[in-house]
Amino acid sequence: MSEPPFPTPRTRTHCPYCALQCGTLLHGDRETGVRVRPADFPVNRGKLCQKGWTAPDVLTAADRLTRPLSRGPDGRLTGTSWDTALDTVAERIRALRARHGPDTVAVFGGGGLTNEKAYLLGKFARLALGTSQIDYNGRFCMSSAATAGNEAFGVDRGLPFPVADLRDARTVLLAGANVAETMPPLLQHLDRAELIVIDPRRTATAHRATLHLQPVPGTDLALALGLLHIAVVDGLLDQDYIRRRTHGFEEAARRAMAWWPERVESVTGVPARDQRAAVRLLARPRNAYVLTGRGVEQHSQGTDTAAGFINLALALGLPGSGRGGYGCLTGQGNGQGGREHGQKADQLPGYRSLTDPAARAHVAGVWGVAPDDLPGPGRSAYELLDALGADHGPRALLVFGSNPAVSAPHAAHVTERLASLELLVVADFVPSETARMADVVLPVTQWAEEEGTLTSLEGRVLRRRAVIPPPAQARSDLRVLRDLAVRLGQPPDRYPSDPREVFEELRAASRGGRADYSGITYERLDAGECLHWPCPDTEERHPGTPRLFLDRFAHPDGKARFAAVDHRGPAEDISSAYPLHGTTGRVLAHYQSGAQTRRVAELSAAVPEPFIEVHPDTAARSGVVDRGLARVTSPRGSMTARVRLDPTMRPDTLFAPFHFPGDGRANLFTHPALDPRSGMPGFKVSAVRLEPVSEG
Ligand code: SF4
Repeated sequence: MSEPPFPTPRTRTHCPYCALQCGTLLHGDRETGVRVRPADFPVNRGKLCQKGWTAPDVLTAADRLTRPLSRGPDGRLTGTSWDTALDTVAERIRALRARHGPDTVAVFGGGGLTNEKAYLLGKFARLALGTSQIDYNGRFCMSSAATAGNEAFGVDRGLPFPVADLRDARTVLLAGANVAETMPPLLQHLDRAELIVIDPRRTATAHRATLHLQPVPGTDLALALGLLHIAVVDGLLDQDYIRRRTHGFEEAARRAMAWWPERVESVTGVPARDQRAAVRLLARPRNAYVLTGRGVEQHSQGTDTAAGFINLALALGLPGSGRGGYGCLTGQGNGQGGREHGQKADQLPGYRSLTDPAARAHVAGVWGVAPDDLPGPGRSAYELLDALGADHGPRALLVFGSNPAVSAPHAAHVTERLASLELLVVADFVPSETARMADVVLPVTQWAEEEGTLTSLEGRVLRRRAVIPPPAQARSDLRVLRDLAVRLGQPPDRYPSDPREVFEELRAASRGGRADYSGITYERLDAGECLHWPCPDTEERHPGTPRLFLDRFAHPDGKARFAAVDHRGPAEDISSAYPLHGTTGRVLAHYQSGAQTRRVAELSAAVPEPFIEVHPDTAARSGVVDRGLARVTSPRGSMTARVRLDPTMRPDTLFAPFHFPGDGRANLFTHPALDPRSGMPGFKVSAVRLEPVSEG
């Protein structure tokens, strides 16, 4: 039976989930429901994944937050008015600040917030609250690759080329990226390429690969060093490119010389012949790409690991060559824009540094304040969560668009810290696990109910459009921030609540910054122009920059930097008490902490509960059985879930998805050791043990 025709008028917008930002057409209203179809948009070319097809169901979630909630003396959350909720929050913030100073109030943002929300949240924190304590969940996502990209190229844009360029690739190395589950429509751009997949698991992506390298979790940098070693020894370098376009090759190569194939095999478990085959595939003439994902980035040496793969790409002459490149496959819906507009602990809008006097002066000028009115850098995301309620730590936290009770590492500890707060305020559209802990819950709009912009993983700025009005009492986060700021004594015109007005201010604040949006307008986007930043505001309309680095890298001398890196192993190694490597990741049906996708019947039916994936031999040794209940324990805590046997797993490794709440939180066992340069926690490898749980 053919599908009924999709009615007109249709609204062009984008999927609410991942950073691929697939184009969609929406039709409908609140009474009859919203229907979705894929748009013919360059990244998804008429396809959506299961999450995209079912996204309208989140709009009608049975427990959609439709009115503010406040925790009463009996400890229960009950409905209240907006005025009462906001008055309560403002009054308690004022009291806490009077007693403990401005840094006693912290803000935690999200990589799914629109550009306008991320921008206004940073401004609100620094001006209305006067706090330095703001960071966001993107710190947990790609911060290490962003740091490595900034150091290597002078600027971090996840993909410095359009996704569609991948169609010309002959070889693509996917290091720690399971795109078949996280971004399925991306696969159509890779179907002509030979894939090399680096992943401890034989994922759906690895199944499609020409070559699957299956390292011990936490040894990816040793493997990257080994691949560079082979390129050097086998004479596969692009010497001319290295000489003309880079600095620092000699030291990077010197370190890689200590990682000969047999040594790499002994550390990573990847056979030397497979290492050599991978380098030969990558070094063939014609296009090759090196793409990293969370699997190699979410480590306490994540920046060095991403840099190790960038070194390999530079040695082969790929970035900015027009015939290949390096990119980070940013994950969250606005993971790219979310890190550019000032909700990071160390940044101002325009992807500017908070410690750069010129940047402070520029942004302060746009905001109408003195540079000294801007606080300095604050704590990174986990450090901030870890400090909540502690001596000299924040006593209040405002959360926008995040669910750290599920998504943060060492989740039991983070939950304790959240519980210790004197004031927890959560703005969300569903009662996430973090919202359920809050003193005040503020119901906000979601994707198809609001206007705004997002920036996709390829640096393209996209319009989000409303197709239905929000529930009567739900408000835009922008209005919530304005109304709170006014109650805290700020002038109302400093906090526009119209997204177009906020974007106009964002353009001015970003002017001249690394992520320059000043030439982008709603009018140009609405006219269908394809605009990738940087897009400066020039007299002749700037066409945007789909491809970066073709002539020069963004460092002052135009050259890229090799990084002098060395493998040092994960923060925690296996032992007799904890004999397995525990790793975590995503499944096709769910997104991030699952707060949205667990509320969609089709997605919940596809993967209704957490699971622990192990090799049958590992299960037998541990006394657990297929579909039996088991416990994974690390030195930090335990998660409980049913076992799935998978003979393709490494026998020394188990895997659990991190989308689930309660005792099934994989983050109960993950490690919070931080990468010293990016603040990325070591999510991807923990020492664990596996044991059966009696169901009697
Ligand atoms: Fe949405 Fe990402 Fe799926 Fe595309 S790949 S439909 S953006 S979740």
